[in-house]
Amino acid sequence: MHIKSHKYAKDGVTILWQPDKCIHSGVCVKGLSAVFDPAKSPWIDMGKAETARIVEQVKYCPSGALSLLNGQD
Ligand code: SF4
Repeated sequence: MHIKSHKYAKDGVTILWQPDKCIHSGVCVKGLSAVFDPAKSPWIDMGKAETARIVEQVKYCPSGALSLLNGQD
């Protein structure tokens, strides 16, 4: 299977998005819709919330499709 991934960075924090892992639970969209909006492209906008809040939301992702990368982008 082709595994795609995308990175989104802000304030030294990098989110890794792996769409093939997403189970479309909607947890991210319901929890922080300003940042996670599937109707937009790119669908993650790191500028719409404080970094700490985005990190908190990423940790709620049940599938691991959203995760945090350590280190530099
Ligand atoms: S919380 Fe994770 S599994 Fe659920 S829709 Fe968002 S990315 Fe996909």
